[in-house]
Amino acid sequence: MINLTDAYDEQNIFAKILRGELPSHKLYEDDATLAFMDIMPQVAGHTLVIPKQPAVTFLDLTAEAAASVMATAKLLAPAIIKAVEAPGFMMAQLNSSYAGQTVPHYHMHILPRHEGLELKFHARDPEDMDVLAALAEKIRAEL
Ligand code: AMP
Repeated sequence: MINLTDAYDEQNIFAKILRGELPSHKLYEDDATLAFMDIMPQVAGHTLVIPKQPAVTFLDLTAEAAASVMATAKLLAPAIIKAVEAPGFMMAQLNSSYAGQTVPHYHMHILPRHEGLELKFHARDPEDMDVLAALAEKIRAEL
C-alpha cells in the first residue's frame, strides 16, 4: 500500500534502477532524470520518466524536479510516437495506491495511442526483453 504520507523507501525498484543495481532499457539520462522502457508495457513504446530526486509522489517532488521530468517527457514523447508510428499519446502519473500507483518512486508514463487499440492491463504482462531492447534502440535513434 502506498500512502501520500509514506517516507521514501530506498529499496524500491526504481531507486535500484537509478543506483544501477537493477537493469533497465535506458532511453535517456541527465542530471535530474532517467527515462526507460516499462517492462510490463500497456502498449508498444510505453515509457517511464523518473526524477532522480527521491520522491514518492508528485507532492514530494520539488518544483524543479517536476519541471525536469516534464522537460525529459517533452524530449522523449516525439521520439517515442515516431518510433512506433502512433498518431496520439497519453501521459499519466498515479499518486498513492488509491490512484493505482504500484512503485513508490514518482514517475510519468508516456503511452502511445492508436485508433482501435486498447491499452493492456496496468503492470501485468512482462514483455520479451529482446522486443523491449529493439524498441529502445528505435526510440533512441529518434532522439
Ligand atoms: P505505477 O503503477 O504508476 O506505479 O507504475 C509502475 C510501472 O512500473 C508499471 O507500469 C510497471 O509495469 C512498471 N515496472 C515495474 N517494474 C519495472 C521495472 N523493473 N522496470 C521497468 N518498469 C517496471
